[in-house]
Amino acid sequence: MRSVNNQTMGEAPPTETTVNNYIAGQICPPASKGYLPIINPSTSLQIGQVALSSPQDVNTAVSAAQTAFPSWSSLTVKARAAYMLKFHALVRENAQQLAQLIVLENGKNITEALADVAKGNETVEYACSLPQLMQGKIDRVSGQVTCQDRRDALGVVASIVPFNFPFMVPFWTLPIALVTGNCIVLKPSEKVPLTMYKVIELFEKAGFPKGVINMVNGTKDCVQALIDHPNVKAVTFVGSSPVAKIVSDRCHSLNKRCTALGGAKNHLIALPDCDVEGTAQDVVVSYAGCAGQRCMAASVLLIVGDKEGAVQKALLDKVIEKAASIKAGTAAGQMGPVIDSQSMTKILSYIEQSEKDGAKILLDGRVWMEEMEGNKGNFIGPTVILHSNKTDKAMCEEIFGPVLSVYNVSTWQEAIEIENSNPFGNAAAVYTSNGGHAEWFMARVRASMLGVNIGIPVPREPFSFGGLYGTRSKYGDMDITGDGAIEFFTNRIKITSKWPKPTVPEYVMGEQEGAVVMNGGTDHANFAGRISPHAATVTFALVFPDLDPTASMAFTTSIPSITEPKTTCLLSKLVKGFGLRLTEKELRAIGIWAGVRHR
Ligand code: NAD
Repeated sequence: MRSVNNQTMGEAPPTETTVNNYIAGQICPPASKGYLPIINPSTSLQIGQVALSSPQDVNTAVSAAQTAFPSWSSLTVKARAAYMLKFHALVRENAQQLAQLIVLENGKNITEALADVAKGNETVEYACSLPQLMQGKIDRVSGQVTCQDRRDALGVVASIVPFNFPFMVPFWTLPIALVTGNCIVLKPSEKVPLTMYKVIELFEKAGFPKGVINMVNGTKDCVQALIDHPNVKAVTFVGSSPVAKIVSDRCHSLNKRCTALGGAKNHLIALPDCDVEGTAQDVVVSYAGCAGQRCMAASVLLIVGDKEGAVQKALLDKVIEKAASIKAGTAAGQMGPVIDSQSMTKILSYIEQSEKDGAKILLDGRVWMEEMEGNKGNFIGPTVILHSNKTDKAMCEEIFGPVLSVYNVSTWQEAIEIENSNPFGNAAAVYTSNGGHAEWFMARVRASMLGVNIGIPVPREPFSFGGLYGTRSKYGDMDITGDGAIEFFTNRIKITSKWPKPTVPEYVMGEQEGAVVMNGGTDHANFAGRISPHAATVTFALVFPDLDPTASMAFTTSIPSITEPKTTCLLSKLVKGFGLRLTEKELRAIGIWAGVRHR
């Protein structure tokens, strides 16, 4: 029997945890009083139970969020970001405890679990920058008319998440949605609800007002009720492709905004000039890390042949050697279980089918099941399959386990054809030591997160995360993080203002004396006493209709402050600065154009 690290393999906590809902700042049981078991994938033992919510619970949660919305959304972005800043510190303080919950309920190893927490907190950091990032525009678009836009929160937003990153994936949505001014109803994965249950405590400690963040637990019924609720204005979903499509179609039929990220089939392409050692290491980390349960995991390795096939062989041998050395367990460097027995059955069926299709199993992860006989966890070891048929099911469909399909190609074009004909469009990467070769592939690969010499090309903040439109990896609108998310979580309100022309004396002076004003129209801007008494940069164009209609001058000056009484004096000073000797009458005949840029 293989050794497993029982300390982190997730023995049941001393008492079973009951995960209830969290609505309007209160922990509350579901109306139905129904619960589902929470299972530790390392042992298959029950470690708790999670509420099975109904539309009634969803309704209560949405009402709580709706009630909290007016005051939350009326805070400044800065004030909302301040809550997040506090929360960020709490996550860091509690990272170890959160990671242990992830190990327990998801089966990641401890290093992967800590990374799950750290990556999620990066989106919190991004959200703390929103006071700088989400400003609107303002511009004077014609004589008296100014346009501005601002971003208003949508209202109540629902977030539905999968099991594979219990902390990071919910945190793709929560921080940006909240800091842009929305209130949230989160539906965690029923398979891993413990992590978010702990996070609720941290939200409370950070002082978020009641009702701003709510959590309902459950499955399909709960998700449908969230989508259908008239006060839920937008839905973010991350999960498998079939469900992503269902969610997106349902939202769009109700004219709701939705982003729905689905599954993946990511290809790594190794060229003959790749660094064999580094590439092999990277490929193994990508396909076997987190037991292959990453939407960014490599699942197909296409090795482009060299003359004698030496690099192909050397790379494949290295991949197998490194993958074979991985041990089962949840300590650092080990590989944990897959999430449940259904997932295990699915993975095994792909391996068996590949054998039937004539593929060679070069590394067989099924041996773990024999070696760990007696262990009830869902452990299956890293597997490498060499295919001779590029249409084998394992080559084309998402397996979501530690299985690498390898296929040898003889040309770059063939590699591109295989990658681009798959129906997903999440990630792809090329391994090469030549920049020109990398660029050739980057220009042709059909996926939206691309890598060069990197097996998990996750774009880090402030770059946004999401698959390619029109593929099974993404339905709906926008990426789920980054500037696309700012757009997603807000309505752009456009305001066009036109104010009557001022009637104060300075303005009338210019009009009556027939000043010819530059810039295509009469425009006295702020010069007629509406200028702010603060430091400003002023651009003047002086036009002399009485002296010579074509003569004009423009100059810019910085002044520490300007107020209405000083206007004439300033003008006279500026004109004198040009060496002109003008009488008071002449001075009054000068038309003025002044554009003011405040400092
Ligand atoms: P899943 O689709 O089974 O479940 C995701 C969520 O949807 C869960 O909260 C679940 O309760 C809910 N759900 C399940 N069936 C539903 C239905 N019929 N109607 C409405 N809601 C339903 O996904 P999973 O197994 O939890 O997660 C693994 C999948 O997620 C993989 O396919 C993986 O590729 C994908 N994933 C994608 C990304 C990405 O960024 N593209 C990231 C992480 C995971």
